[in-house]
Amino acid sequence: MTDYRFQHPGGCACGAVTYLLHCNQDLDELTPRACQCEFCLPREARYVSVADGRLEVRVRDRRYLYAHAFGTFTADFMHCGRCNHLVYVTSEIDGHLRGLVLEQSLRDDITAPPAEADYDEESLEQRLARRAANWIPELVVLEQK
Ligand SMILES: [Zn+2]
Repeated sequence: MTDYRFQHPGGCACGAVTYLLHCNQDLDELTPRACQCEFCLPREARYVSVADGRLEVRVRDRRYLYAHAFGTFTADFMHCGRCNHLVYVTSEIDGHLRGLVLEQSLRDDITAPPAEADYDEESLEQRLARRAANWIPELVVLEQK
């Protein structure tokens, strides 16, 4: 596995789902994206991804993790089933799972203000190509010991 310079911890509110985002950027080098869609806007959901990195998710029990899909059904919004917090999102593109994390699920704060992102005009093809270029390319889910 590749070694990265930083490991940013995060997770849900109750601690049943935690993760480490391994990447080469410190938090102050990352800009969250505030998606303007009808799902994300009312939830004030802001997302963070890196084009190279690895997301290691740890769940106390896989039953605590549940997926919610909507819209184009090309992404799974992964929630903690205990505290109901959205933690990360995955999308399978050409058989390869990519992901991003919810900014609010990071343990430490990002200082940069979020950039508004409106993807409503995208075609499905454009959407998947954008994710393939920008989303975290490596994702593992482990059960906590
Ligand atoms: Zn939780």
